[in-house]
Amino acid sequence: MARVFIISNRVAVPDPERGVHAGGLEVALKSTLKRHECVWLGWSGEVKPAGQTQTKTITTGGVTYIVTDLSEEDYEEYYNGFANRVLWPILHYRLDLAEFTRRDLSGYLRVNEHFAAELDKVLEPDDIVWVHDYHLVPLAKELRQRGRHNRIGFFLHIPMPPAEILTAMPNHEKLVPALLHYDLVGFQTDGDAQNFARYLATECGMPAHIPRRIGVHDRTMRIGTFPVGIETREFTRRAERAARSSFVREVRDSVAGALMLGVDRLDYSKGITLRLDAYERFLVANPNWHGEVTYAQITPRSRSSIHEYAQMEHEIDTAAGHINGTYGDLSWTPLRYTNKPYTRTALAGLYRAARVGIVTPLRDGMNLVAKEYVAAQDPANPGVLILSRFAGAAAEFGDALIVNPYDPEAVGSAIRRALEMPLDERIQRHGNLYRALLDSDIRFWGDRFLSSLTGYDMTSAALPASRPKAVVTPTTAPPSMRPATPTEPVAPALR
Ligand code: UDP
Repeated sequence: MARVFIISNRVAVPDPERGVHAGGLEVALKSTLKRHECVWLGWSGEVKPAGQTQTKTITTGGVTYIVTDLSEEDYEEYYNGFANRVLWPILHYRLDLAEFTRRDLSGYLRVNEHFAAELDKVLEPDDIVWVHDYHLVPLAKELRQRGRHNRIGFFLHIPMPPAEILTAMPNHEKLVPALLHYDLVGFQTDGDAQNFARYLATECGMPAHIPRRIGVHDRTMRIGTFPVGIETREFTRRAERAARSSFVREVRDSVAGALMLGVDRLDYSKGITLRLDAYERFLVANPNWHGEVTYAQITPRSRSSIHEYAQMEHEIDTAAGHINGTYGDLSWTPLRYTNKPYTRTALAGLYRAARVGIVTPLRDGMNLVAKEYVAAQDPANPGVLILSRFAGAAAEFGDALIVNPYDPEAVGSAIRRALEMPLDERIQRHGNLYRALLDSDIRFWGDRFLSSLTGYDMTSAALPASRPKAVVTPTTAPPSMRPATPTEPVAPALR
């Protein structure tokens, strides 16, 4: 039977002894991993001196994992360098933060070549390849150069900015058109897909309308939208249980008044500084709420070795101290801010206890915290989601309080509106949001992408041993406060 190869930057192999597994992407691919014969290839997470790197194959739980170490140079140039200092800021519309060097670009291409070489050793002609995220844009090109004709798909988990931004990236013309070597390129939202199509029109001479199928040499490349979701019903049950835990009850009992919750990796794309500004404006405009609301912000650190991240951490610490020093008193702390990571179970209980969930990224591919917050609510007495229009989730979540995160006064007003929203409006909005969540349940996301890539219904059947030459495929998929314990993954570490 043909196999499904999943390729991603990080692969965290399940370890029955330590109970560690891969967080976000593993949850997303759970059904795919169960239903098909899968091989998952990527970085082991280990960084070794040059010459001491290894590639290992581990089979566990019915999945084969091929993990390869990075050398110190690879880690610096490919991961910290081009992926996180160039692609991450530019794809999040932050040209001002990009630090391009040719050395990092060549490290990025070298690691992609290495992944392709490892894959080339084990790939059979009928295997399907699914590549994930911005770390691995040139992988299909590398495989094609090795004479591989397999079906290869790519999914971008983060935003795709307009051509005007992409073209400011030095060497974009070497990198972005490499996506044409895939058979299917998937995005989180139609807006992202349109931005890519327009780049192809303006930079690669493709038709000016938004093409969903593009002839490239002897293949057809397609563009699709596949919004990532969560395991909705399971998360709701998890939240119901967690809300009864002594931990969540202790937190709930210890805060004054209504709880407003924010959960974000410490990243400039999350808009945390502007959000604190909005909270301050809310406090200034609404003295009647003093002592009646507590804002808890959970912000695990990520990428601390990058200068901008360390600087941002300092800025947020200062703003948090300013809010508590200025508006708090000995009996009320308006803001509780922590850099500790929490398990998804602890978060589920906290979401349910929170009257307001505040998610105001300046730009975000999807934002799963927004979806988890909605899934965790008690439908009879739900909280209110304040959501940035610049999160991918906003495309499905028109019933959240949609805000512009660059307008702190408007976000401050939305906080008041959320806190004062009558029960019947909360119930109605939550019902609509929950239905949208059920429509994009993650259990079938992987199978939908693979069905579109292969032309077979991968939700019900295994892939046939050899695929016919002409594959008829749809043009797009259906529109679709306790630190973590080692037994449960903390997703932010994997970014
Ligand atoms: N998360 C977690 N522990 C934390 C903070 C976040 O497990 O302390 C999880 C959260 O539940 C969500 C994910 O990390 O599933 C964050 O995903 P999102 O799409 O919101 O943002 P990303 O970090 O991928 O940019």
